[in-house]
Amino acid sequence: MSSHKSGGSVLAVKTNTYEFMGPVGTFIMTLCLPLVVFGLYAFCNADHCSVKPPNSFPCARTLWDPHAYTIFVLWFLFQAMLYMLPIGRVVKGTALRDGSKLNYNINGIHAFVIAHILFAVSYFYFKLPVTIAYDKYLQLASAAFAFSLILAVYLYSKSFDTGALLALGGNSGNFIYDWFMGRELNPQIGRFDWKVFCEMRPGLIGWVIINYCMMAKQYEVQGMVTSSMILVCLFQMWYVFDALLFEESILTTMDVVHDGFGFMLVFGDLCWVPFTYSLQARFLVDYPTVLSPVACLVIVLINTFGYCMFRGSNSQKDQFRRDPRHPSVKDLKTLSTRHGKKLIVSGWWGFCRHPNYLGDLIMALAWSMTCGCNHILPYFYFIYFTALLIHRQLRDEHHCREKYGEDWDKFCKLVKWRLIPNVY
Ligand code: NDP
Repeated sequence: MSSHKSGGSVLAVKTNTYEFMGPVGTFIMTLCLPLVVFGLYAFCNADHCSVKPPNSFPCARTLWDPHAYTIFVLWFLFQAMLYMLPIGRVVKGTALRDGSKLNYNINGIHAFVIAHILFAVSYFYFKLPVTIAYDKYLQLASAAFAFSLILAVYLYSKSFDTGALLALGGNSGNFIYDWFMGRELNPQIGRFDWKVFCEMRPGLIGWVIINYCMMAKQYEVQGMVTSSMILVCLFQMWYVFDALLFEESILTTMDVVHDGFGFMLVFGDLCWVPFTYSLQARFLVDYPTVLSPVACLVIVLINTFGYCMFRGSNSQKDQFRRDPRHPSVKDLKTLSTRHGKKLIVSGWWGFCRHPNYLGDLIMALAWSMTCGCNHILPYFYFIYFTALLIHRQLRDEHHCREKYGEDWDKFCKLVKWRLIPNVY
């Protein structure tokens, strides 16, 4: 592992500006984000699925369950063990501001395949009650939340170790703000990288496995597996497979390069992703939508179109940034900037300024559409994701304007639309 031990001021630059409305905003988000996860369950379950308040809310006592907590911890440890196995590749991350580069184990695809084999053997051969993920969904979510709280406290205290490189946005001196945003940039223990591991493994692979458990539950309850369930499980499995196949690209994302690892990301990775993104599959257990062949075809086409745009644009930019002379990108039109880097203005990146976000959103719409049109709550993911990506796009454009100055304005004149041509 490269060390962070260079000059103290480089390691711990003071944060002078707040995001998310500072300590008050981050405190409110700390309370509200878990409430949304539990609220989605309260508002959408076997008895009730509507934005109208339900007759009863789960009480705090029902959240604790030793089995659920044990399953969650074992799953986390199992994934950590897979991360540490000497399989796959070891890749260096981008240069940090103290000049060092960290090593990362890239073997997520192996973990994905092993988890699938384990699930299939457990369900088909040992007949284990995998439907526990449905029966104790709330308790598992509460385990993920409790674990996130504890891990975030540990990471905050670890950030005071000598030589820790702090995130530029997580060292304000205010406990709640720094704990939420993440004080240390890339906390590691030996080769174990907390952030990249949590971003890619327990929550993401867990989401796919939870979906399969919902499929097993639908079969148990309804005596059949609907086409809608098969589609949503396939689409989301493919999304996670794709993320793990291109796992290395996480090393250049905003989350890894810029953001500290605190409660916001820990909770997002371990609780929010698996327990809000699996809402559609859980919904289909209780409200099994049967789609006509034409509806299936339309949804498959929408998802495929979204995926092509998402993958095509992400790969095009990655390839261009790695080797602009590569045959697949050498003919793209570009805009030279004073900063030195070129910006693509044709192909996917000439269509709009964030074709990768648009593709992601189109897929999100296809996933929600598998649940039919009678309920709004399965569309939660699409609605929330639209808000998240618009906010992210504004944040990214702000960074690009700071980086490229006037050239960014020229770029915006050439590629006028942010997400959807003629609309936004
Ligand atoms: P991007 O991959 O879009 O990266 C933005 C950076 O790309 C800019 O800062 C700029 O950096 C570069 N860039 C922008 N425009 C151009 C251009 N025209 N030519 C060349 N380079 C350009 O952002 P994210 O990391 O936010 O997203 C990556 C993927 O992850 C997306 O597909 C997104 O949808 C997905 N995502 C999914 C989430 C989920 O929960 N499922 C959450 C967040 C993201 P520079 O110029 O310095 O290279």
